[in-house]
Amino acid sequence: MNIVLLGKPGAGKGYVSEILKNEYGFNHISTGNLCRENIKNNTKLGVLASTYVQKGDLVPLDIILDMLKQALNNSSDNYIFDGFPRTLIQAQQLNKITPVDYVILVDVPNDIILQRVAKRRICPNCSKLFSTDEVQDEICIVCNTKLTIRADDNLEVAKKRLQLYETETKPLVDFYKDKLLILDNSKDLENTKQQIKEITERIYAKFKENV
Ligand code: AMP
Repeated sequence: MNIVLLGKPGAGKGYVSEILKNEYGFNHISTGNLCRENIKNNTKLGVLASTYVQKGDLVPLDIILDMLKQALNNSSDNYIFDGFPRTLIQAQQLNKITPVDYVILVDVPNDIILQRVAKRRICPNCSKLFSTDEVQDEICIVCNTKLTIRADDNLEVAKKRLQLYETETKPLVDFYKDKLLILDNSKDLENTKQQIKEITERIYAKFKENV
């Protein structure tokens, strides 16, 4: 079973993915992480993607698809697709690679997103995301590395990314309307976890009916 996570940049798709991975056994694939890893490792694809990511622009389709296919490496089942697709064309391409069973829209109003983005930090070593509220001295609690601010986590780029979401990604809500489940991620983390539990229970129940 494959699930696509839709949602504005900064809506918390990474956090939801982590719970689905750790507690429900899904594989996690984040095209944002793939971009950052390729950039960090100075690969050919990373060099090509770098300026787009820094400016908050969408990386061209062929580059993103190459990264995705490399990461999938012939296995494409039981995945959480986080940050992909982001356009209708990407959604059509994903259909050619693997079926999408469910789509979870991680929903948060823009004002809360901008507040969260200002507090967001990333571990440059293990890529885990934190809020400054949950860590001491901005040190990664997993691998003890000093956290950094993502190059695209400044107010100007965050607003541009929200604008891009409206024009490019929001049409996917309609494209996937028959598979769509909504997760309100504007409250606290426990509330989000509870909603994920309810959503996964519904998904598994429907999945069993169809087997
Ligand atoms: P994210 O971590 O998902 O917020 O993505 C960070 C950045 O990576 C985005 O602002 C884009 O520059 C790039 N990126 C990630 N996923 C995609 C995608 N599906 N299509 C194009 N660019 C992407």
